[in-house]
Order: sequence, then C-alpha cells, then structure tokens
Amino acid sequence: MDKPVILAVDDDLASLAIIERELKKRYRDDYRIVARQSAGDALDMMRRMRDEGEHTAVVLADQWMPEMPGAEFLGEARLIDPLAKRVMLVAWGDPSAPEAIFHGCAYGQIEYFLAKPWHGSPDEQFHHEIADLLYQWSRTHRPVFEAVKVVGEQWSRRSHELRDLLQRNGIPYGFYAADSDEGRELLLDNGLGASARLPAAVVFGGKVLEDPSNRALSEALGVQSRADAGGECDLVVIGAGPAGLAAAVYGSSEGLATVVVEGEALGGQAGQSTMIQNYLGFPAGISGEELTARAYQQAWEFGTQFLFANSAVGIAPKGDRFTVALADGSELCASGVIVASGISYRRLEAPRLEALMGAGVFYGSVSSEARALGGDDVFVVGAGNSAGQAALHLSRYARSVTLVVRRDGLEDTMSHYLITMIERTPNMHLMPRSEVVDGDGPGRLTHITVRNLQDGSEATVAAQALFVMIGATPHTEWLPETIARDKDGFVLTGSDLTASDGGGDDGAGDDGRGDARRLLWAPERPPYPLETSLPGVFAVGDVRHGSVKRVAAAVGEGAIAVRYLHEYLAARRLERAAA
Ligand SMILES: Cc1cc2nc3c(=O)[nH]c(=O)nc-3n(C[C@H](O)[C@H](O)[C@H](O)COP(=O)(O)OP(=O)(O)OC[C@H]3O[C@@H](n4cnc5c(N)ncnc54)[C@H](O)[C@@H]3O)c2cc1C
Repeated sequence: MDKPVILAVDDDLASLAIIERELKKRYRDDYRIVARQSAGDALDMMRRMRDEGEHTAVVLADQWMPEMPGAEFLGEARLIDPLAKRVMLVAWGDPSAPEAIFHGCAYGQIEYFLAKPWHGSPDEQFHHEIADLLYQWSRTHRPVFEAVKVVGEQWSRRSHELRDLLQRNGIPYGFYAADSDEGRELLLDNGLGASARLPAAVVFGGKVLEDPSNRALSEALGVQSRADAGGECDLVVIGAGPAGLAAAVYGSSEGLATVVVEGEALGGQAGQSTMIQNYLGFPAGISGEELTARAYQQAWEFGTQFLFANSAVGIAPKGDRFTVALADGSELCASGVIVASGISYRRLEAPRLEALMGAGVFYGSVSSEARALGGDDVFVVGAGNSAGQAALHLSRYARSVTLVVRRDGLEDTMSHYLITMIERTPNMHLMPRSEVVDGDGPGRLTHITVRNLQDGSEATVAAQALFVMIGATPHTEWLPETIARDKDGFVLTGSDLTASDGGGDDGAGDDGRGDARRLLWAPERPPYPLETSLPGVFAVGDVRHGSVKRVAAAVGEGAIAVRYLHEYLAARRLERAAA
C-alpha cells in the first residue's frame, strides 16, 4: 500500500481499459495503478488516500465526462492532493480540446495535457510524457538517494542556508532535525556527541563535517572550486544564472575555453522559480531548477569548466587580457569576460526580522522550506510575479497564505494568469495597502506587525513564516571603477555608454550623467552591444542597466555577448597583426 498512486479517470470504459493497460505494463512495479469510471468515486478515493497518508503522483482525467468536465475534476483533485501532477486527457483531433486546455491552464486546474494512448501499442509518446511527470514528481517529493544528510536545528539560519544551497544546486539531500529520533541517531552513528557544532553534514561515502562552510561542503561533495591549467582560458563568465549559462553554452560550443565562476548556486534567481511558465518551448512550464540543471549539463558537455562556491572579487586588464580575482585568493586569466552576476533581493528594514532570517523569515527562495510549513499561516510580501508564484507554491503546503502588498491590488504588477490562480485558491488571501514593519518570536517567527497604509494603524498577527520578495539590487559592488554603472548600480553597456541621457527601465532615467558617459567610453570605435566601459568586458542579464528581467532575455543576451566577444577578439588579432 505504500506505493504512490497513478490515478486514471475516464467514463468511456474501452478508453479507460487501454489507459490502464498501458500504465500497468510500464509502472506497476513502482506505482499502484488505479482506474475509475466515475469522477465522484475517484475524488472520494483521493480523499481516503490522503487521510491514510497515501500519495498520488499523477492524476489523468478525460475532459468530456458526464459527471463533471475533466478540468473541474482536476481542480478538485488539486485541493485534495496539491502535489499530484494533474493531466487532462484529450482524444486525437478533438476540435474542442484547445479551448478546454487553455481555460484549464489559466485557472490552474490542469498542469498538462496529453493525447490518450493509441489502441496500437506501445505508445512511446504517451509513456515519454508520463515518465517525465513521474520524474518531476519524484524529484521534489520522493528523493531516492541522499548525497548528503544534514542534521541541524530546524529553524536555525545556518540550517536554512545549507538546505537552500543544496536544493538550489540540485544536490539530493535529506534534512534531519537534531531533536528528532533520526537526527539523534545520525549524530551518534557518526561519532558526533552532544557538543557537536551544528548543523552537521554526513556526506555519502563517509565524510562528516561539523558546521561546514559552503566551500568545505562543496569540496566534500567533490564540487570543483579552483581552476585547472593555472587559470588560463579564453573566456571567464561570472555567474551561473540563465545569462551566464547561455554565455557558457555558446562560448564553449564555439571553441572558446570557458570557465564559469559561481558564488552561490547554479541557476541564480531562475533556480528559485518553482515554475517558469513563459520560457519558449515548454508549454507546461518548467521548474527553474530543471531548466538550469539541463543548461549546466549542456555547457559541461561542450567543455565549460565550472567553479562553484567561489566568487569573483575583481577584474583588471593585464596587457591584452584580463585577470579575474577570486574570493579564495586565486586568479583566472582570459581574453574576454562576461559579467552575468544578476541581482539579489532587497531586505525589509526591520532589525528583529533580520535576526530571524532562516528562522521563519526568508528572502526569495521558497522551495527548500515549503515542505516544512504544513498547517502554518504564512505571509508573502511583494506584488510581482515572483511573489505570486511563491505564494501559489506555498499554498500547496501551508494552511493559509496571505500576500501583503502596498498597492490597492495586483493588477499593475502581476501577470493576469497568476492573479486568476490566486483568486481561485481558497487558502490564499490578499492584504492590500499594507506593509510588514516588524515581527518577532522566541527563536523562530511567531508573529508579525502589519501597518495599514491608509490610516497608519498597526496590527500584530500570528505568522509562522514570512517570505520577502520586494525587488532587488545588482551584484556589482565588486566591479572596478572602470566599469561604469547607473545610479542604482546596474552596469551600463553598449549605446548607454555614449548616449547623452539615461533610458532603460531601471528607473535610472536621466541621472545627469549623460555627458560623463561619453567620457567613459575611450576607444575610437563605438562600443559593441552589451560591452561595458572596460572594452572586452561584457555584461548580460539582470545586472545590466535596462535589462528585461526575464529568463529568455537573459539567455538571449548571454548568447549575443559571445558573438560580440568574437568580433572584439578578431579586431584585437588584426590590430596585433598590423602593429
Ligand atoms: C522567484 C522568481 C521567479 C521568477 N520567475 C520567472 C519566470 O517565471 N519567468 C521569467 O522569465 N523570469 C522569472 N524570474 C526572473 C528571472 O529568474 C531572472 O530574470 C533571471 O534569472 C536573470 O538571470 P541572470 O543570469 O541575469 O541573473 P541571476 O539569475 O540573478 O544569476 C546571477 C548569478 O550570479 C551569481 N553571482 C553574483 N555575483 C557573483 C560573483 N561576484 N561571483 C560569482 N558569482 C556571482 C549569483 O550567485 C547568481 O547565481 C523569476 C525570478 C525569481 C526570483
């Protein structure tokens, strides 16, 4: 009975028999296959399974059932088991399917649609999609292997940081509360007594680390943080978010010896997105973790070298080349540099909340914490798409999720599809014209103070977790003065360097530096698009002044910068030949 369930519902008995046969043929060893003709029976069954602690991995439902449409059924199924993957089954050539699919997706009832399996067997397309859905479900909900077991206090800041680091780098891990039976047993079995410094990490293969630094843990896991070949290469890319990963794929696939330096986690902000719905080619959406894991693999296959848990701390010209100084004291030397260091979240100015970071207060990432929030009342601050996505994801686990926003509503700042999904999620609430000004708790957040911006009154409300997603600042403080930035710290590139006024959408506007910008660009030639005021160094993605702040845009810029780097290098070669 502990096998997860694949549930199929179709009122057409012949069609249901084919679906059941196909599912049993491939998955019965690992999953319990359940087929039902009645939508009502299937929902009752899901409720019983939930009450008995059984999990449903995938629910498949025919759209045209007399009892209720498949989309409606799947919407109900979401309320019973929010983690189950929900799929609408449509018949080949059904002309009414597209509209049903469109509405089902818009209202968050369905996550995917599939053509029913063919009478002829095997139907590899059907199985390809089912296997992918099972893979996605098991990645999040049933890790089969733990490369590292972390034992720590559930709500300590460092426990949170380590969980976040592992989750975002796609390293399968298990977290064990130090005061649980399993946690105590793990500590004892690994020779760690009551005085052990927590969190402790037990790495597959036997290494045991007490309160490890990010780099120590990365090295114990075999992750490379120092460069090969004395750090000599053609291209250094700083940051392994979407922009940096794209630059790495295009750089290394076009013959440049490419090294990527990443200070925190693969995927950058995108790695924290639970579902990217608008990236070209993924009609059912793709998690940021999955997208960036694929890009990493692609870059690696082309020969990119990745250095993790190490940050760039400086760039300086050295003859025809550049040195990039790293936080561990080592250096890389390259003919070109692409800065793709992105942005990070703004903080609430509330010292008591800051002190509870990781202990109920979280910035940006929600994925590593969400599972621990069962039955909790959770608040999300922010009105952008990332706040909306995070809130929806949390609503799968928490008892209630309240979105706190300064404006009257979400219309001006959030995509329509997210607003619709939020409105249709019963445990989600909106607190408009409000801001969180304080919060506290004994060692972990228990309450927050919310100010009503209309009348200035303040109220204290119970809150077990607060996720803050209120915008970001660029990671550019480490760049040399020779790389010009706008007043908010975003890097100026291309025509920004020679334009007489501002522009772009970072709110920089005309910051009075137009004439100074002209002076910033020294060479005779105009700057290449995406080139910074230090010729040969390019900036791409969110860190760039005027960037679009989307995954697709970051990826596009990463690819384009490589093309202009080639032009820059070719021009340098000609200059050298002429000299
Ligand atoms: C929760 C969330 C959901 C989102 N959802 C969507 C969505 O659905 N669709 C969409 O199009 N966009 C979405 N976005 C926006 C999108 O993720 C970003 O636009 C995109 O990630 C920008 O990519 P980037 O590579 O420029 O920067 P980032 O993703 O910010 O990556 C920068 C990387 O550089 C690293 N770094 C910084 N400084 C250094 C240094 N000195 N040395 C080494 N490494 C460094 C950082 O650790 C980081 O990994 C979302 C963002 C968030 C936060």
